[in-house]
Amino acid sequence: MKWQWKLGTFAGIDVYIHVTFLLLIGWVGYSHWLEHRSWLEVLKGIGFILVLFLCVILHEYGHALTARKYGIRTRDITLYPIGGVARLERMPEKPIEELWVALMGPAVNVVIAAGLFAYLFLTGSLVPLGELTVASGNFLERVMTVNISLVLFNLIPAFPMDGGRVLRALLAMRMDYVRATQIAANIGQGMAFLLGFIGLFSNPFLLFIAFFVYIGASQEASAVQMKNVIGGIPVGRAMLTDYKSLSPRDTLSRMAQLILAGSQHDFPVIDDGDRVVGIVTRDDFLSALTQHGQNVAVSAIMRSNPPEIDSYDMVETALNRIQESGFPTLPVTHAGHLVGLITAENIAEYLMIRTALRTSQAVTI
Ligand SMILES: [Zn+2]
Repeated sequence: MKWQWKLGTFAGIDVYIHVTFLLLIGWVGYSHWLEHRSWLEVLKGIGFILVLFLCVILHEYGHALTARKYGIRTRDITLYPIGGVARLERMPEKPIEELWVALMGPAVNVVIAAGLFAYLFLTGSLVPLGELTVASGNFLERVMTVNISLVLFNLIPAFPMDGGRVLRALLAMRMDYVRATQIAANIGQGMAFLLGFIGLFSNPFLLFIAFFVYIGASQEASAVQMKNVIGGIPVGRAMLTDYKSLSPRDTLSRMAQLILAGSQHDFPVIDDGDRVVGIVTRDDFLSALTQHGQNVAVSAIMRSNPPEIDSYDMVETALNRIQESGFPTLPVTHAGHLVGLITAENIAEYLMIRTALRTSQAVTI
């Protein structure tokens, strides 16, 4: 179960509501009942929340329809109690396009607020803001102020807020994307500390937002850091599993056949007991061939006792061991058996595939 219900499909985009949203509606209804003991007030309270979330859905459509202009599809829009999320297939690559996609969400709330302001002003029903609270006062004016708060909140220049993307897009117009993300994320974390600090002395809700911003900023920063891209990948996922091996008694002519038949450079040497006893590299093979001819056994030229790595070890460990040992290829074993080979080239290929897959995954805004 996905814990969400489909509200409907509008402009070709499915809109879902998360079940936890019901908790919010229940809580709002209950607190209005406690305060006023009147069903009418309960309905008004719930009505206000529903209108507020309609504004949030329209905000998400602002992002989604702008993205569509740049040929990017939106998988769906989901409403959570803390806000809405539009899952875009990807972010536009051009910073100017990302800027527009990020800005058009808050722009929707600006339009709603401006429209309500004009209506209230022209009908002479505008109440001084000091007499207004979120829970009471003129309904339309409360909707207007909530939309203004949505704009201000979303434009905080920190991930995961729209303002964070706006900032990154502006920076990315002057520098490369990775650096722009890092600077935007650093600014976001600085903002989070500032918010948290203010929250300590005023509104505890700011502490919650600060936490949210801090997590969002660090996630975005780590997503672009190479070190974290490598982290957490077991060798088994990146290793070469389609390889040929040699016996210690095989000659260099056998290795020559294998090199010509495939694209493998280095070969593990395995004894009768299924143990890896060495690695023959192509460079060693070539120099041995010119010196001794092709009837020499590989055991005479192999590099013995290569450091072994387990298929459950991390790719980072494998890279370190390749660098330290000087073996360009390491045998990967598990439970005493050879299960694959790992090279720096393999790891690089794996990362390229992973990066390509990651950019094809949905982003949320
Ligand atoms: Zn937004």
